[in-house]
Amino acid sequence: MTNFHTHSTWCDGKDSPAAMAEAAFRLGFSALGFSSHAMLPGEPLDWTLSAEKIPGYRDGILRLKPLYAGKMDVFLGVEADFVKGRCFPDRPVYSALSPDYIIGSVHFVVSPGGGEVMVDESPASLSDGIAKHYGGDARAYVKDYFAQQRQMALSCDFDVIGHPDLVRKFNGRLGYFDESSPWYDEELEMTADAFAQSGKIVEVNTGGIARGWIDDAYPSPAFRAKLRRRGVRFILSSDAHSAQGLDCAFGRFGNEEEYLQCPWKN
Ligand SMILES: [Zn+2]
Ligand SMILES: [Zn+2]
Repeated sequence: MTNFHTHSTWCDGKDSPAAMAEAAFRLGFSALGFSSHAMLPGEPLDWTLSAEKIPGYRDGILRLKPLYAGKMDVFLGVEADFVKGRCFPDRPVYSALSPDYIIGSVHFVVSPGGGEVMVDESPASLSDGIAKHYGGDARAYVKDYFAQQRQMALSCDFDVIGHPDLVRKFNGRLGYFDESSPWYDEELEMTADAFAQSGKIVEVNTGGIARGWIDDAYPSPAFRAKLRRRGVRFILSSDAHSAQGLDCAFGRFGNEEEYLQCPWKN
């Protein structure tokens, strides 16, 4: 078992890296990667790293590597945002951290008018954002979400595409778009093409299950099938925000795809 998408007390996780590593080792993991939320431009946020926190985060994770040498590979990563026109998961941006790998994620969709809608904060803020920045047109918002992911995959230098259909997170609660509609299928087709063209790894992320929002992984079975047909490589991750969530639903999803075991070397 491996998990490269985890959050700790360096961002919005509950447990320290040391506690996460100890729990992963006890679960029998062969590799564990830390992927704190990177800083966004502007004011520092309480759920992200900051320029000041970078040296401590880097040292803290690097110190764990020798403690588990020969037993479990520990990797320093970061989950970096793509915010159209403002923030990019691009390796040169993170040179001070010099991570082993970068996960690129879209948590903010930028509307044609420049407003930002947060994808996964809460059903209420999502509804408000679509009303305010898309005049209530949920389809336009979802299409922009996928267009911005395609742009990220094709224009930025990073390793793993994070939770690639996160727009589904609140769809069970809000029912704001129909996942079986032809236009949605077309978005998945175009996005699968772009991901395959990018050569990047796509994660199968069980984090929505851990938080009780959906009963499936990101990407959905239909999206995964399209990616699989194009030869896209997968890793399994849980987007853990605590030691308890390290192997969420791994028993269920562990055999769903052929996963890369450990794409990086220590
Ligand atoms: Zn994320
Ligand atoms: Zn995450």
